[in-house]
Amino acid sequence: MAADDSGSALARRGDNGGFGSLSRLKRGWTRQKPDEQDDDAARALRFITCVEELGSGWFWETDREGRLTYLSQGVMQQLSESGRSLLGESLCDVFVVGGDDVSAERTLRFHIVGRTSFSDYHVSTDSSGDRLWSISGRPLFDEVGQFRGFVGTGSDLTAKRRTEAEVARLAMFDSLTGLANRAKMQLSLDQLLARRQGRWQPLALMLLDLDRFKAVNDTLGHQTGDMLLKLVAQRLQRTVGDGALIGRRGGDEFEVVIIGECRRDALGDIAHGIVAALSQPYHIAGSSISIGCSIGISIAPDDGDTSETLVRNADLALYSAKGNGRGTHRFYVPELLALAQMRRQMEDDLRQALGDGQLHLVYQPVVGTVSGAITGYEALARWEHPRLGAISPAEFIPVAEDSGLIEPIGEWVLRTATLAAAQWPVPVRIAVNVSPIQFARPTLPLLVTSALAQSGLDPARLELEITESVFLGGSAATEATFRNLKALGVRLALDDFGTGYSSLGYLKTAPFDKIKIDQSFVRGIGQESTRNAAIVKAIVTLADAMDLETTAEGVEAQDEIELIRALGCTHIQGFVYGRPMSDAQVLIQLSGTQLAAPVGVKVSRPVRTRMLRSIWLQLDGRRIAARLRDVSAAGAMIDSFEPLTLQSDTRVAIEFVEGEPLGGVIRWVRGGRAGIGLDQLFDFREIKSPVRQQAAA
Ligand code: C2E
Ligand code: MG
Ligand code: MG
Repeated sequence: MAADDSGSALARRGDNGGFGSLSRLKRGWTRQKPDEQDDDAARALRFITCVEELGSGWFWETDREGRLTYLSQGVMQQLSESGRSLLGESLCDVFVVGGDDVSAERTLRFHIVGRTSFSDYHVSTDSSGDRLWSISGRPLFDEVGQFRGFVGTGSDLTAKRRTEAEVARLAMFDSLTGLANRAKMQLSLDQLLARRQGRWQPLALMLLDLDRFKAVNDTLGHQTGDMLLKLVAQRLQRTVGDGALIGRRGGDEFEVVIIGECRRDALGDIAHGIVAALSQPYHIAGSSISIGCSIGISIAPDDGDTSETLVRNADLALYSAKGNGRGTHRFYVPELLALAQMRRQMEDDLRQALGDGQLHLVYQPVVGTVSGAITGYEALARWEHPRLGAISPAEFIPVAEDSGLIEPIGEWVLRTATLAAAQWPVPVRIAVNVSPIQFARPTLPLLVTSALAQSGLDPARLELEITESVFLGGSAATEATFRNLKALGVRLALDDFGTGYSSLGYLKTAPFDKIKIDQSFVRGIGQESTRNAAIVKAIVTLADAMDLETTAEGVEAQDEIELIRALGCTHIQGFVYGRPMSDAQVLIQLSGTQLAAPVGVKVSRPVRTRMLRSIWLQLDGRRIAARLRDVSAAGAMIDSFEPLTLQSDTRVAIEFVEGEPLGGVIRWVRGGRAGIGLDQLFDFREIKSPVRQQAAA
């Protein structure tokens, strides 16, 4: 140890070299001129002085009785702040072995009395133990083996300890908000759960995710984003109070552990309070910022008795909360795990599907309202699952978006559609849907360029359909992508207009050529109760003012065509002019007159809407996770990834909204799907489709 290294030259010399002890060496130095000293001594002294002056260590020496005869200047000054002169005092009185030192098997006095070496003893100089030192020493014998005292070194441990404590603190706390970090929260949760054993202590875990935080960060900058996170942390602390642990998991995710509460209604109230508090506007640097918050909750021990299981289950509940329109909370239920597994399965299958050619495209005609001629087709993806049959893009596109598969799928769609359209006998347009995730990639214009070059398609014939959710990011990158795409000469259409969450502000700058009015405003347009005609009229007026075309989507009945024409829409797309068809059928259709003949039902009937969302089915006292595919006021069509063992004429209840069952009867069952007639008419417009909302996220 240091005692041996720095003291060796001195100790080796014994007393008869003229500087057998440290104090004499130092005293001698002041009397002698440098050139009078021998090299060894001069070098040793230089080292000592250097170490002392740099403050990296200090030296001490005692007489035979263990009384200090030398102490380096620096440490002497620090210690004698208390007014004590330390020379002559017993080393063992000046330094006491610190209570934290597990390495010290023997007391300092034991070594001094026993004349044995000691190394790296952690000692302090006062009872508070605030200042910590490490000292090492060895006995000093003269040439004839006579004990002369002790010589040794010391160093200050206080700063090192402080740094260690700071490192430990930083490892446990989030530096931005000061809240516990993920590791610390897990530790606390583990400890609480361990303590629970044998004694009942209710516990709930809430995982929080801020809605629209990314948009704030992207548009107002990271500094504002950081400030917002700090304010969120403060509001969270104020809202949940002291009976809870609060942590930040990273990014815009927070967590709260509620101790001593497991009643759902009470927890629901707390969650509600958090959502309400965090959703109030924030005022930062002159801007008023609004965000929201979604919460997933799991309760110990019902939903798990380890931190891993509780976190996983709260996370599943959070995912469900976000899928249910955000700004809300959800409790974990075991069916969520089954749903997540279904999703995982679908993701694996989809990966396989892309390689195995299970995907194909169909094309739906778009017809000019004035000419009645086909002006183009929209390419729509189809997945023929080997076991489950046809799976709708409304179902698999969100899974592809979540899993990153949307990029290869999107590229495949673009290349396939442009290659097909380039072969058509008439140069009508081809519309391709582009997911917001694809749109956020700066490489999209390159991909479009490549697809156009590969197919030889005239760029003016390609129309990219984008939903309003691309504006949620609102970043400069979005604007650049718009510019680059327009520079290629392709057309841009705003899909599902009216279902998004953005303001209309983006219409001022985004270079759209067309607005596609969402089906929900078009369906039942002839029925006064829907007010849809008024909404469509307003959208058409807006589009006309900006010189944009309009397509009415989802027109089914022939009696609606005239009305839509009268309202001024420039295009119609819907089953009324044919279902999406294969490329071969397009070739046949385009070889004919190209005037589209209405084929849909003559008169509009009670509205039936395609609405893909997770629902619960109650049957024989069980609750089964199922999916809604289609709904009207009088009935619904459902299916499930699990094989459904349903029988006609069985009574069931459907929970379109969790916890609100509606009675009905199974009318038919076919290939994993079932049609259910509801006991009472139901206004399904009140339930929103989570599929779109997830895509918009
Ligand atoms: P979308 O782009 O709004 O496409 C129109 C959807 O409405 C299509 O459903 C089409 O079959 C359906 N539809 C058209 N006319 C009628 C009608 O008269 N009545 C009814 N009830 N429905 C009609 P589909 O093919 O199931 O696609 C659903 C959504 O999935 C699309 O909505 C689009 O957002 C997405 N999608 C489809 N293919 C792709 C794709 O290749 N890439 C991406 N990113 N999304 C796609
Ligand atoms: Mg579309
Ligand atoms: Mg659409």
